[in-house]
Amino acid sequence: MLKKVHHIGIAVKDLKEAAEKYVAITGIKHYETEYVPGQDVEVAMFEVGESRIELLQGKSENSPISKFLEKNREGLHHVAYEVEDIDKALEELKAQGFALIDEKARIGAGGMKIAFIHPKSTNGVLTELSQVK
Ligand code: ZN
Repeated sequence: MLKKVHHIGIAVKDLKEAAEKYVAITGIKHYETEYVPGQDVEVAMFEVGESRIELLQGKSENSPISKFLEKNREGLHHVAYEVEDIDKALEELKAQGFALIDEKARIGAGGMKIAFIHPKSTNGVLTELSQVK
């Protein structure tokens, strides 16, 4: 059902500073940044092989990333898996009793259809499903 790990989301306080570190770590000089209004976040995406690292900085106090950083240190925020059919995947997970944050898919970075599964259902890790097209 899950095709691959699509990306790993990392919550950061300062996107520019974090991106510079990830340029140094990955050796990838070209990365894309994007503002995602749905979550009020600025995102930097680094393609590493067939997966990506997604750095996330909240743009206001109301952003879920800012709220996360009030309670947690910078670091792992979520793991995202690519799925073929997100609506079907959500239906199947719901039927199995997983706690869904998003009952329906919404639009995330890169125009992907995304939905989150509550970490209480997934051993403490916020889990995202992504449908690329
Ligand atoms: Zn993500």
